[in-house]
Order: sequence, then structure tokens, then C-alpha cells
Amino acid sequence: MPKPVKEKNQNIQVAVRCRPINSTEKRQGSCSVVSCDADKREVFIKEKQGIYPHCKTFTFDHVFPPTSKQMDIYNAMVTPVVEEVLMGYNCTIFAYGQTGTGKTFTMEGERTDDPSISWEDDPLSGLIPRSMHQIFEQLQSQEVEFSVRVSFLELYNEELFDLLGSTDDPLRLRIYEDATKKGSLIISGLEEVVVRGKEEVYNIMERGASRRQTAATLMNAQSSRSHSVFSVTIHIKENTVDGEELLKCGKLHLVDLAGSENIGRSGAVDKRAREAGNINQSLLTLGRVITALVEHRPHVPYRESKLTRLLQDSLGGRTKTSIIATISPASVNLEETLSTLDYAFRAK
Ligand code: ADP
Ligand code: MG
Repeated sequence: MPKPVKEKNQNIQVAVRCRPINSTEKRQGSCSVVSCDADKREVFIKEKQGIYPHCKTFTFDHVFPPTSKQMDIYNAMVTPVVEEVLMGYNCTIFAYGQTGTGKTFTMEGERTDDPSISWEDDPLSGLIPRSMHQIFEQLQSQEVEFSVRVSFLELYNEELFDLLGSTDDPLRLRIYEDATKKGSLIISGLEEVVVRGKEEVYNIMERGASRRQTAATLMNAQSSRSHSVFSVTIHIKENTVDGEELLKCGKLHLVDLAGSENIGRSGAVDKRAREAGNINQSLLTLGRVITALVEHRPHVPYRESKLTRLLQDSLGGRTKTSIIATISPASVNLEETLSTLDYAFRAK
């Protein structure tokens, strides 16, 4: 009898990005155990070296080899998602992976050393500035009235910190259900900054980056254990051909998740991490929420963590979700890489 084929949830796209091997890994005598076939969308992992090599293959919606550029990731994973947001839908993009594998590099990006290159032309710019750029280009080329607002927050130990706010009191932020709109949330105290044009984007990101230092000190946080959520809310007022006004509201969340190193191969908290009390509730619940969505289960446990509550109206239903799992190619990181691939594979 043929095996029942799991119906793929088309609204969830999963990609793997492998960064280049770095000098520390090379110095440790580590070799690359990962190879990528972008056309076949496959990742191969050499689990054992020597006379009896053993190779494991994983297939994803997209596979980005170490030579991939920021723009390749953007075009494949984000351009279609921004189109959805501009049509009035809510979408979320996650970077998931072990600390040091390129989550922040992918989401925020870096700056080329040449000051004459603006962030818009910088090949190292990440998904956040690139999506803001696309949003403004598209809105400004249409005959519509629009507003763009952004917020940027950090979540550490189930506490929220406003990266764009003017107060240093992390407890000021609270999540409430919006009584007027089912499934929608209000984060009281969160500053939403109106962005008038793409010129303002970079300043906002820099403000967020400097506030992150403050947040780390205040919350005594290790940055690898916090999640950061950059959210863009777009309101569009369009005049239809028959002279009516059409209002659209779309939201895009770009989430740089905490390092996945405490989540074991089974998707549960690693025993040592549990003993040390290092349980990242939001990261664990996110896995369960995604599994529930992929398997079309009736109950989705959004309420079990702050991160999933925060993203509730932008995960599942008529929303699009992209997960970019980042990995290192080095043999020293083999166990973590397999964990990441297992986690990402379950989301497919
Ligand atoms: P994470 O946020 O997952 O902890 P980072 O984004 O901080 O990891 O990346 C760790 C280091 O690796 C940084 O120095 C970054 O510049 C570098 N890096 C990550 N991904 C890439 C890549 N695809 N190409 C070149 N360098 C990368
Ligand atoms: Mg990071």
C-alpha cells in the first residue's frame, strides 16, 4: 500500500543557509562536513569520515550554499512575502539556528567597510533593510495613501524590552488581547515609530542596535538567549475604479531567534540545559506551534509563550511563514547542525 503523503502546508517555506567555514573552525582543525545542492534543494551531511563514510540527505524548499549572497536569500525568501504584506496579509520570517551561524548576519546584515556605499547598495545588507527598501519602492510607485510604522523589541526570559523606546523599564511592556479584533494583540507601552521614507530606515536600525546594549546590561542577558522581533505595519488607502475607498493593513515580522543550542535532536530541551534552568520557553513553544500548523491540528498552543502570543495573528491561517535555518559547515558543529536540520525539517 502506498504511504499516505503528508499534505504540505504551502504557507510555510523552509530554507537552509550554510555559512562559509571560518578561521576559528579551521584553526581547530575542523573540516567541512556539509555540502549543498541548490538546484536539487538538498543538504548532505557527512556524519562519519574514513573508510565507512555515512551521509545524510535533507531536502528543503530552498538551500543556500556558503557562496550565497544576501540578495539571493532576499529574492527567494522575502520578495514574495513582502508582496503578500502589501496586499494586506500578515507574514513572519524567522532565522533559526545555533549561535554563530549567521542569524543576525542574515536578518540585519552588516556594513561593507567602504563608507561611500550606502546601505541600500551594500551587498552585506540583510533582510530587514532590504524589505523596508522594497516596501517603500513599491508604495511610492503607486497612487495610494499609506503609512508605515515599525517596532523593534527584544524578548529575554519571557520579558519584553522595547529597542526603539525611550524608557529603560523593561517591565513597562505588557501584552493584551485586543477586545475589538479576535486573535489580535496590543503590546502596551511599545513604541511604534512612523517611517516616512527609506532614508529613515538605517537610523532606526542603528538606534535598535545601540539600545540592545542597554537591554543586555539591564536584563543581565546573554544576547544569544534573546529573540529580537522587528515588525512593520503598513496601512494602505486605495481608491478603487468605482470610486470607493479600500483600506488594507499588512504586517511583516522579521524574527532573529535565540540560539538553538539548547534544543536537542528530539525537539525537546537538552538534559544539561534543563538542569541548568536554561529553558527557552518561546523557542520550544514556537516549535510546537509550527508542528501544529504543519500537521493542521485543531489546537495551536500560541498562548504558551510570549513570542508565539506576540506573533499569533501572523502565524497560521491566511499568513505566510518563512523559516531560514542557519548552519555552520564545520565538523565541530556537526551535532548542532543535525539538530537544526531536524527542527527545520519538521517544519516542512
Ligand atoms: P548568530 O546571529 O547566528 O549568532 P552572526 O550573524 O552573529 O551569528 O554570525 C557570526 C559570525 O559569522 C559573524 O562574524 C558574521 O559576520 C559571520 N557570518 C555569518 N554568516 C555569514 C555568511 N553567510 N557569510 C560570511 N560571514 C558570515
Ligand atoms: Mg545573533
